[in-house]
Amino acid sequence: MSAPRSASRAWTRACVRYNDGVSDLKGKPLVVAAPARPGSGEKYLTPQGFTAIRNGIKRAAGGAGAAVVAGRLPPWLKARAPSGAGFARVRGLVREHRLATVCEEAKCPNIGECWNAGTATLMLMGSVCTRACRFCSVDTGNPHGWLDPEEPENAARTVELMKLRYVVLTSVDRDDLADGGAAHYAACVRAIKRRSPHTAVEALTPDFQGVRADVETVVDSGIEVFAQNVETVRRLTHPVRDPRAGYEQTLEVLEIAKRRRPEVLTKSSLMLGLGESDAEIDETLADLRTAGVDIVTLGQYLRPTVNHLPVRRFVRPEEFDRYRERSLALGFLECVSGPLVRSSYRAERALQRNNAGLDNRRLAT
Ligand code: SF4
Repeated sequence: MSAPRSASRAWTRACVRYNDGVSDLKGKPLVVAAPARPGSGEKYLTPQGFTAIRNGIKRAAGGAGAAVVAGRLPPWLKARAPSGAGFARVRGLVREHRLATVCEEAKCPNIGECWNAGTATLMLMGSVCTRACRFCSVDTGNPHGWLDPEEPENAARTVELMKLRYVVLTSVDRDDLADGGAAHYAACVRAIKRRSPHTAVEALTPDFQGVRADVETVVDSGIEVFAQNVETVRRLTHPVRDPRAGYEQTLEVLEIAKRRRPEVLTKSSLMLGLGESDAEIDETLADLRTAGVDIVTLGQYLRPTVNHLPVRRFVRPEEFDRYRERSLALGFLECVSGPLVRSSYRAERALQRNNAGLDNRRLAT
């Protein structure tokens, strides 16, 4: 069951104090964002007038805060340069209309494949998250209720211009908003559906602190797929995720979504390589199935900066195949599993039961 909203918000306030990334804002020197980009772990002033920590996690004492060098990655994690007519067309539109996508901003290695297939991910509600998960390089701060009222129409225009067949809408966590941003999220979905009624919409949402009404607001907005990422196994949820996130809370959110509208597919993702055991992966997959989850994705965790959690192991491509087989045996409609898989990877193919066309055996050289 969800916690009562007042208790939940009180917990949020307590956690904002607890959260290093946010609470330490006061004592840190301010870096002005323009024209120079702040370094990882530095505090800066956003164009909206509030402060944030670059990459979410403050710089470790004595640390350089630099991005992790990709030189020691195993061969199956080397990304191919994007190419293809569809990719070139979408990139041209993105440049011409100055559109913003997560695919480009996160330098996602799958951009060629996804854009060629008419799939992309848009980030809603700004680029500053109220949480500070230790695997994620999104900036952390308190936007104090800031929202762009034009975002629903702009997102709809972006989807229309890019001629997307499938769009994933994701967002930062917005614990500073009374409804966690649920109404705004739903407004974006409705605006997209008005302009592009044939585009499938997947909402990869925050957990809304488990507040049932907020989850239902998004599920009722006209989406085809509702996604909430469990990210890791139960034992590693803390330290991997922000203290306000929870393993049980994520399961509960997914369950609320499925009960509300059984026809909306539910989906969750797990990063591997953080120190989890096979038994813990199996337990998590079973828990997701019990919560009624239809689709699961499995990918390799990669450390975004030296301030984030280290990679404990690189999971081999053939292991991803084994995890997929185990997931399908548990009854998931599909499990998209591979080293470079992200939760939105080839999302439009997630029901073709062919690992979204991914062939891990070819990667395992
Ligand atoms: S995996 Fe997601 S973020 Fe990456 S290119 Fe595909 S749609 Fe974009």
